[in-house]
Amino acid sequence: MGSIQLQDVRKSFGNIDVIPGASLKIEDGEFVVFVGPSGCGKSTLLRLIAGLEDVTGGHILIDGVDVVDTPPAKRGLSMVFQSYALYPHMSVRGNIAFGLKMARMPKAEIDRKVNEAAGVLNLTSYLERKPRELSGGQRQRVAIGRAIVREPKAFLFDEPLSNLDAALRVNMRLEIARLQKELGTTAVYVTHDQVEAMTMADRIVVLHAGRIEQFGSPLELYERPANLFVAGFIGSPR
Ligand code: ADP
Ligand code: MG
Repeated sequence: MGSIQLQDVRKSFGNIDVIPGASLKIEDGEFVVFVGPSGCGKSTLLRLIAGLEDVTGGHILIDGVDVVDTPPAKRGLSMVFQSYALYPHMSVRGNIAFGLKMARMPKAEIDRKVNEAAGVLNLTSYLERKPRELSGGQRQRVAIGRAIVREPKAFLFDEPLSNLDAALRVNMRLEIARLQKELGTTAVYVTHDQVEAMTMADRIVVLHAGRIEQFGSPLELYERPANLFVAGFIGSPR
Protein backbone atom coordinates (compact mmCIF):
# COMPACT_ATOMS: atom_id res chain seq x y z
CA MET A 1 0.00 0.00 0.00
CA GLY A 2 1.41 3.38 -0.93
CA SER A 3 -0.55 5.72 -3.19
CA ILE A 4 0.42 9.39 -3.00
CA GLN A 5 -1.99 12.11 -4.07
CA LEU A 6 -1.23 15.83 -4.33
CA GLN A 7 -4.24 18.16 -4.37
CA ASP A 8 -3.35 21.70 -5.42
CA VAL A 9 -0.16 21.60 -3.32
CA ARG A 10 1.42 25.04 -3.06
CA LYS A 11 4.70 26.21 -1.57
CA SER A 12 6.15 29.69 -1.31
CA PHE A 13 9.36 30.86 0.32
CA GLY A 14 8.74 34.47 1.34
CA ASN A 15 6.90 36.00 -1.60
CA ILE A 16 8.31 33.54 -4.17
CA ASP A 17 5.88 30.83 -5.32
CA VAL A 18 8.19 27.89 -5.83
CA ILE A 19 5.27 25.47 -6.36
CA PRO A 20 2.25 27.47 -7.55
CA GLY A 21 -0.16 24.51 -7.42
CA ALA A 22 0.55 20.83 -8.14
CA SER A 23 -2.01 18.03 -8.45
CA LEU A 24 -1.32 14.41 -9.36
CA LYS A 25 -1.85 10.85 -8.18
CA ILE A 26 0.91 8.28 -7.90
CA GLU A 27 -0.52 4.75 -7.74
CA ASP A 28 0.56 2.08 -5.29
CA GLY A 29 3.68 0.29 -6.57
CA GLU A 30 4.49 2.83 -9.26
CA PHE A 31 7.98 4.19 -9.98
CA VAL A 32 7.46 7.89 -10.68
CA VAL A 33 10.32 10.21 -11.62
CA PHE A 34 10.19 13.99 -11.13
CA VAL A 35 12.44 15.48 -13.79
CA GLY A 36 13.26 19.05 -14.74
CA PRO A 37 16.10 21.57 -14.82
CA SER A 38 17.97 22.65 -11.71
CA GLY A 39 15.89 24.96 -9.50
CA CYS A 40 12.49 23.92 -10.93
CA GLY A 41 11.20 22.69 -7.56
CA LYS A 42 11.82 18.92 -7.69
CA SER A 43 13.44 18.66 -4.25
CA THR A 44 10.90 21.02 -2.75
CA LEU A 45 8.01 18.87 -3.99
CA LEU A 46 9.70 15.73 -2.65
CA ARG A 47 10.38 17.39 0.71
CA LEU A 48 6.73 18.44 0.92
CA ILE A 49 5.69 14.80 0.42
CA ALA A 50 8.24 13.70 3.05
CA GLY A 51 7.01 16.36 5.46
CA LEU A 52 10.44 18.04 5.67
CA GLU A 53 8.72 21.24 4.47
CA ASP A 54 5.22 22.42 5.35
CA VAL A 55 2.80 23.13 2.50
CA THR A 56 1.65 26.72 2.01
CA GLY A 57 -1.66 25.31 0.76
CA GLY A 58 -3.34 22.19 -0.57
CA HIS A 59 -3.37 18.59 0.57
CA ILE A 60 -1.15 15.51 0.41
CA LEU A 61 -2.87 12.14 0.77
CA ILE A 62 -0.99 8.92 1.46
CA ASP A 63 -3.25 5.91 0.94
CA GLY A 64 -6.14 8.35 0.97
CA VAL A 65 -5.25 9.91 4.34
CA ASP A 66 -4.38 13.61 4.50
CA VAL A 67 -0.89 13.90 6.03
CA VAL A 68 -0.21 17.65 5.82
CA ASP A 69 -0.31 17.84 9.64
CA THR A 70 1.51 14.52 10.15
CA PRO A 71 5.20 14.73 11.16
CA PRO A 72 7.75 13.12 8.75
CA ALA A 73 8.47 10.11 10.97
CA LYS A 74 4.77 9.17 11.02
CA ARG A 75 4.15 9.36 7.27
CA GLY A 76 5.57 5.87 6.65
CA LEU A 77 7.98 7.06 3.94
CA SER A 78 11.76 6.55 3.65
CA MET A 79 14.00 9.13 2.03
CA VAL A 80 17.31 8.30 0.29
CA PHE A 81 19.59 11.29 -0.26
CA GLN A 82 22.42 12.05 -2.64
CA SER A 83 24.91 12.39 0.20
CA TYR A 84 24.55 8.99 1.81
CA ALA A 85 24.60 10.38 5.36
CA LEU A 86 26.01 7.16 6.83
CA TYR A 87 27.38 7.08 10.37
CA PRO A 88 31.16 6.72 9.83
CA HIS A 89 31.89 5.05 13.18
CA MET A 90 29.22 2.35 12.72
CA SER A 91 29.48 -0.83 10.68
CA VAL A 92 27.25 -1.43 7.67
CA ARG A 93 25.08 -3.60 9.91
CA GLY A 94 24.87 -0.82 12.49
CA ASN A 95 23.96 1.75 9.86
CA ILE A 96 21.20 -0.38 8.35
CA ALA A 97 19.87 -1.35 11.79
CA PHE A 98 19.99 2.12 13.31
CA GLY A 99 16.38 3.20 12.69
CA LEU A 100 15.05 -0.14 13.89
CA LYS A 101 17.08 0.07 17.12
CA MET A 102 15.69 3.55 17.70
CA ALA A 103 12.21 2.07 17.25
CA ARG A 104 13.16 -0.55 19.90
CA MET A 105 12.56 -3.52 17.67
CA PRO A 106 13.69 -6.84 19.22
CA LYS A 107 17.26 -7.77 18.25
CA ALA A 108 16.36 -11.07 16.56
CA GLU A 109 13.89 -9.28 14.31
CA ILE A 110 16.43 -6.54 13.51
CA ASP A 111 19.02 -9.16 12.56
CA ARG A 112 16.55 -10.95 10.32
CA LYS A 113 15.56 -7.74 8.50
CA VAL A 114 19.15 -6.52 8.13
CA ASN A 115 20.31 -9.89 6.77
CA GLU A 116 17.40 -9.98 4.34
CA ALA A 117 18.09 -6.44 3.07
CA ALA A 118 21.82 -7.18 2.80
CA GLY A 119 21.02 -10.24 0.70
CA VAL A 120 18.86 -8.26 -1.72
CA LEU A 121 21.52 -5.54 -1.97
CA ASN A 122 24.58 -7.82 -2.28
CA LEU A 123 26.01 -6.48 0.96
CA THR A 124 26.09 -9.74 2.93
CA SER A 125 29.91 -9.98 2.99
CA TYR A 126 30.29 -6.28 3.89
CA LEU A 127 28.06 -6.13 6.97
CA GLU A 128 30.91 -5.76 9.47
CA ARG A 129 32.83 -3.12 7.48
CA LYS A 130 32.84 0.61 8.09
CA PRO A 131 31.49 2.99 5.42
CA ARG A 132 35.03 4.24 4.60
CA GLU A 133 35.93 0.68 3.54
CA LEU A 134 33.21 0.65 0.88
CA SER A 135 32.98 1.90 -2.70
CA GLY A 136 30.58 4.70 -3.63
CA GLY A 137 28.06 2.24 -5.05
CA GLN A 138 28.20 0.08 -1.93
CA ARG A 139 27.66 3.12 0.30
CA GLN A 140 24.65 4.05 -1.76
CA ARG A 141 23.32 0.51 -1.33
CA VAL A 142 23.74 0.81 2.45
CA ALA A 143 21.67 4.00 2.35
CA ILE A 144 19.00 2.14 0.40
CA GLY A 145 19.24 -0.77 2.88
CA ARG A 146 18.48 1.63 5.69
CA ALA A 147 15.33 2.69 3.85
CA ILE A 148 14.26 -0.87 2.97
CA VAL A 149 14.34 -2.32 6.51
CA ARG A 150 11.79 0.25 7.63
CA GLU A 151 9.33 -1.27 5.14
CA PRO A 152 7.99 2.11 4.06
CA LYS A 153 4.85 2.74 2.04
CA ALA A 154 7.08 4.55 -0.44
CA PHE A 155 10.74 5.38 -1.10
CA LEU A 156 11.62 8.99 -1.83
CA PHE A 157 14.90 9.42 -3.72
CA ASP A 158 16.53 12.80 -4.25
CA GLU A 159 19.21 12.50 -6.96
CA PRO A 160 20.71 9.45 -5.21
CA LEU A 161 23.24 8.72 -7.96
CA SER A 162 24.65 12.15 -8.74
CA ASN A 163 27.83 11.58 -6.68
CA LEU A 164 28.71 8.41 -8.56
CA ASP A 165 30.83 8.10 -11.70
CA ALA A 166 29.04 7.55 -15.03
CA ALA A 167 29.49 3.78 -15.38
CA LEU A 168 28.42 3.07 -11.82
CA ARG A 169 25.44 5.38 -12.24
CA VAL A 170 24.15 3.30 -15.13
CA ASN A 171 24.51 0.09 -13.07
CA MET A 172 22.81 1.56 -10.02
CA ARG A 173 19.92 2.85 -12.14
CA LEU A 174 19.15 -0.66 -13.29
CA GLU A 175 19.68 -2.02 -9.81
CA ILE A 176 17.32 0.45 -8.14
CA ALA A 177 14.63 -0.06 -10.80
CA ARG A 178 14.89 -3.85 -10.46
CA LEU A 179 14.82 -3.69 -6.67
CA GLN A 180 11.76 -1.43 -6.68
CA LYS A 181 9.84 -3.88 -8.87
CA GLU A 182 10.97 -6.80 -6.73
CA LEU A 183 9.79 -5.14 -3.51
CA GLY A 184 6.69 -3.61 -5.15
CA THR A 185 7.14 -0.48 -3.05
CA THR A 186 6.03 2.85 -4.52
CA ALA A 187 8.99 5.08 -5.44
CA VAL A 188 9.25 8.78 -6.16
CA TYR A 189 12.62 9.59 -7.69
CA VAL A 190 13.98 13.08 -8.36
CA THR A 191 16.58 13.72 -11.05
CA HIS A 192 17.63 16.40 -13.53
CA ASP A 193 18.83 13.65 -15.89
CA GLN A 194 16.38 12.90 -18.74
CA VAL A 195 18.02 9.57 -19.57
CA GLU A 196 17.70 8.43 -15.97
CA ALA A 197 14.01 9.42 -16.03
CA MET A 198 13.31 7.70 -19.35
CA THR A 199 15.03 4.44 -18.35
CA MET A 200 13.74 4.09 -14.79
CA ALA A 201 10.20 5.46 -14.66
CA ASP A 202 6.80 3.89 -15.05
CA ARG A 203 5.60 7.48 -15.36
CA ILE A 204 7.44 10.80 -15.48
CA VAL A 205 6.43 14.18 -14.08
CA VAL A 206 8.09 16.97 -16.07
CA LEU A 207 8.48 20.08 -13.92
CA HIS A 208 9.26 23.57 -15.14
CA ALA A 209 9.34 26.55 -12.77
CA GLY A 210 7.30 24.62 -10.19
CA ARG A 211 4.60 23.61 -12.66
CA ILE A 212 3.75 20.15 -13.92
CA GLU A 213 4.12 20.36 -17.69
CA GLN A 214 3.23 16.71 -18.27
CA PHE A 215 2.65 13.48 -16.35
CA GLY A 216 2.90 10.35 -18.47
CA SER A 217 4.82 7.24 -19.42
CA PRO A 218 8.23 7.62 -21.09
CA LEU A 219 6.66 6.53 -24.39
CA GLU A 220 3.83 9.08 -24.12
CA LEU A 221 6.29 11.87 -23.39
CA TYR A 222 8.45 10.84 -26.29
CA GLU A 223 5.66 10.35 -28.82
CA ARG A 224 3.20 13.00 -27.64
CA PRO A 225 5.00 15.74 -25.69
CA ALA A 226 2.43 18.20 -24.28
CA ASN A 227 4.39 21.27 -25.36
CA LEU A 228 7.70 22.55 -26.64
CA PHE A 229 9.27 22.57 -23.19
CA VAL A 230 8.63 18.84 -22.74
CA ALA A 231 9.71 18.12 -26.32
CA GLY A 232 12.92 20.07 -25.85
CA PHE A 233 13.70 18.65 -22.46
CA ILE A 234 13.02 15.04 -23.35
CA GLY A 235 14.77 15.55 -26.65
CA SER A 236 12.12 14.20 -28.99
CA PRO A 237 11.70 15.57 -32.52
CA ARG A 238 8.68 17.79 -33.00
P1 ADP B 1 15.49 21.49 -7.70
O1 ADP B 1 15.53 20.39 -6.71
O2 ADP B 1 14.56 21.22 -8.86
O3 ADP B 1 16.85 21.87 -8.22
P2 ADP B 1 14.57 23.08 -5.46
O4 ADP B 1 13.28 22.45 -5.10
O5 ADP B 1 15.74 22.78 -4.63
O6 ADP B 1 14.89 22.81 -7.00
O7 ADP B 1 14.39 24.66 -5.48
C1 ADP B 1 13.34 25.29 -6.17
C2 ADP B 1 13.43 26.78 -5.93
O8 ADP B 1 13.10 27.06 -4.58
C3 ADP B 1 14.80 27.38 -6.17
O9 ADP B 1 14.63 28.63 -6.76
C4 ADP B 1 15.38 27.49 -4.79
O10 ADP B 1 16.30 28.54 -4.71
C5 ADP B 1 14.14 27.77 -3.94
N1 ADP B 1 14.26 27.27 -2.56
C6 ADP B 1 14.37 25.97 -2.20
N2 ADP B 1 14.45 25.85 -0.85
C7 ADP B 1 14.38 27.11 -0.36
C8 ADP B 1 14.40 27.67 0.97
N3 ADP B 1 14.48 26.89 2.05
N4 ADP B 1 14.30 29.01 1.08
C9 ADP B 1 14.18 29.81 0.00
N5 ADP B 1 14.17 29.34 -1.27
C10 ADP B 1 14.25 28.02 -1.45
MG1 MG C 1 17.15 19.27 -5.97
